[in-house]
Amino acid sequence: MIDEQLRGLAADIRACTACPLHRSARQAVPGEGSAESGVFFLGEAPGYNEDVQGRPFVGAAGQLLDELLKGIGLDRSRVFITNVVRHRPPENRDPLPDEVTACDVWLRRHLEVLKPRVVVTLGRHAMYKFFPTDSISRVHGKPRTHEGLTIFPIYHPAAALHQPALRDALVADFAALALLLANETAAATPAAAEAKRADQMTLFGD
Ligand code: URA
Repeated sequence: MIDEQLRGLAADIRACTACPLHRSARQAVPGEGSAESGVFFLGEAPGYNEDVQGRPFVGAAGQLLDELLKGIGLDRSRVFITNVVRHRPPENRDPLPDEVTACDVWLRRHLEVLKPRVVVTLGRHAMYKFFPTDSISRVHGKPRTHEGLTIFPIYHPAAALHQPALRDALVADFAALALLLANETAAATPAAAEAKRADQMTLFGD
């Protein structure tokens, strides 16, 4: 069911002409993966390799992302990966505000279909979608809530390729993400629900 919805959504994104980026790009990069782990990665924009292959994060930054995922026992097939804009900006320039706004509808629809447990924003462009005035150096690695979604901002893997010091920060943030997922899973088990009920009965003297 979800796979079918994702396929439909990818077809809609490939047909999108809402901003001028579709004219210069080779093809759209709708996003890929599954709802299995409940983790949704949001990057900035497709680059050269993504534009050629029509898949997100398949270049050098993607290789680092794969390694970081492996480091916490997650395969990329178990997460969903997409970008703030779905067509490559010319010369890899930053996406313009109008292009980002035109692509909003696809983010909303992906979130509706996948209902992720956590949205991991990669870099500042993705973080600005939820927290437009924050600085990534201050907020990375800490989960926050926005309109009922758990958002986990981290640095963009490409930044760590240029600034090796950021790689340690990324590794630490992935460890924090693993902990967040493990804690959430533990809180959702029947034993945890039973313990919570018992607590409430003590509280209310039942
Ligand atoms: N950088 C991004 O932000 N997205 C990609 O898909 C690849 C590199």
